[in-house]
Amino acid sequence: MRLLIVEDNERLLQLVTAGLATEGFETDGVATVAEAEAAMRVLPYAAVVLDLGLPDGDGLTLLKRLRAGGIATPVLILTARGGIEDRVLGLNAGADDYLVKPFAQPELVARLRALLRRPGEMLGQTLSLGNMRFDTSSRELAVGDRQHFLSPRELAVLELLLRRAGRVVAKQAVEDHLFGLSGEGGANAVEVYIHRLRRELADCGADVQIHTIRGVGYLIAPPAT
Ligand code: CA
Repeated sequence: MRLLIVEDNERLLQLVTAGLATEGFETDGVATVAEAEAAMRVLPYAAVVLDLGLPDGDGLTLLKRLRAGGIATPVLILTARGGIEDRVLGLNAGADDYLVKPFAQPELVARLRALLRRPGEMLGQTLSLGNMRFDTSSRELAVGDRQHFLSPRELAVLELLLRRAGRVVAKQAVEDHLFGLSGEGGANAVEVYIHRLRRELADCGADVQIHTIRGVGYLIAPPAT
């Protein structure tokens, strides 16, 4: 179970990661919004501890972008902003919990444990379409009875499309989801990933279809009956 800690105060980051390590959590620590987005594109974290005041932006903006992109990873905001309005803003932006600094390490651990116990959409959720099942927590893709392995970015595109199955996902949303702020991708890269994903799914016998909606985006649909 791996957690992402987003905190620009180096000493606090060390304290939090050391404290969580003694409780059996594996953690990655990052100090900026850009690093957090990059880390989340690569690894499926069980939960995120999110500071709000970060050097390259506000944690709330990052949180809203994650939720808009269909990413339901539990997020605990850990911040010095302790006012009622701040808490409401944080929870409305899609946070699952809110803890104000200074805080006690045992409370952080207890709250994270509670978050990770929470069933339903926030944790392991299986998205099914046609003969395909995707576990969003373990990142396992099964077609029929067999498991198949795709790259993290292919899985990220597949998850985004599956969460909005039957609806069009804008090309820009796919690009943002894949490349975030890095701008390394571009529209052609999205086409490349969609092309690969189609081919991989066809190769493993998936019966779903990824349709291109010209000038708009993509739509995943079950087999026509
Ligand atoms: Ca900070």
